[in-house]
Amino acid sequence: MHRLLLAGGSVLDVRTGKVAPADVVVEGDRIADVGGTGLDGDDAVDCAGRLLIPGLIDCHTHVALTRTPNDPLGLPRSARALSIVPVLRTLLRLGVTTVRDAWGADAGMRLAVERGWIEGPEILISLRQVCTTGGLGDHWRARSGPLDFFGDPSMPDPVFDGEDGARAVVRRMVRADADWIKVTATGSLVLGRGVHDVQLTDGELAALVDEADRQGGRGVMVHAHGARAAEAAARAGARSVEHGTYLDERAVAAMAEAGTWLVPTLSTTQSAPDEAPDGAPEAHRASVRLALDAGVTFAMGTDNPVRPHGEALREIAHLAEAGLGAAGALRAATLDAARLLERADDRGEIAEGKRADLVLLDGKDLDVTALDTRVHAVWHRGRRVA
Ligand SMILES: [Zn+2]
Repeated sequence: MHRLLLAGGSVLDVRTGKVAPADVVVEGDRIADVGGTGLDGDDAVDCAGRLLIPGLIDCHTHVALTRTPNDPLGLPRSARALSIVPVLRTLLRLGVTTVRDAWGADAGMRLAVERGWIEGPEILISLRQVCTTGGLGDHWRARSGPLDFFGDPSMPDPVFDGEDGARAVVRRMVRADADWIKVTATGSLVLGRGVHDVQLTDGELAALVDEADRQGGRGVMVHAHGARAAEAAARAGARSVEHGTYLDERAVAAMAEAGTWLVPTLSTTQSAPDEAPDGAPEAHRASVRLALDAGVTFAMGTDNPVRPHGEALREIAHLAEAGLGAAGALRAATLDAARLLERADDRGEIAEGKRADLVLLDGKDLDVTALDTRVHAVWHRGRRVA
């Protein structure tokens, strides 16, 4: 098989946070060898003065939501689908090679990437935001009643009530081929409503988690700003808490005990702190510190397009600054993200046998403050894509 040699550069070991000189050999879509120096290959890329890191994983993005003022209601259906093409290209160029879509993308979009009709990171989909009546995923107006954004069987009705309803909504999502079940347990920070509420009962949360697990071992990701909702999600066995803007000691203790990941999506409050609700940027950073101290595991997620998709790598800088440090932030964006997605046997680090998702950065240091300006080349499944 053809051997591509990435020669003379440095390699980040995300487990230890250490950088050391090493050659890397890629065969097909796999990393075939990671050695000291002097490995051989059929073709070589000179990596001198540069740093190889694993392909990045965004565990909370919305690739099919754009920033047009009246999206998605304002877009014709075809435009909504096609809008992912430039978004996915942007993410690949930034070195993002896997994403977990936190609602908006459907199975057809995932299929288009798998088939190679369009280029993009691998997409894991959740379709819609499952919620109880009046929750964040329940698009309803007093004047017109329920609004169906999509009128599309590939984007099932996300609203349910009660434990039987919870099982039924998971089954609807699985029928439409969701990889993950996304649940909203509190209101929205942006809309400033219900952020401290707990919009599901413990029984409803437990039923969602149990049913998702029965259906191919799927995981549940829970949107929760307030501490009580995050604590309830952890106790119910959700795999990750999203946002976690207002966590407290009890919430982070429950998450640490249950092994619940935190995907803090710091970009939502740290990229434009003046636009965030009063006190939210400070509270969000304090939550991250509490979670770190409690031993909670982090995974990177941007929640874009809250910020433009082109700013995705700023989340890594926010994580570093909030207390993870550069090595910790890069681990959250690679190995720990892969563990959350149960893909760590396949990707998330530069090691023999892992998928050749690789980013070559200019310079050899771990500084993550302006990562996007340092991306020199990107390989996805062993193929150079940027
Ligand atoms: Zn989101």
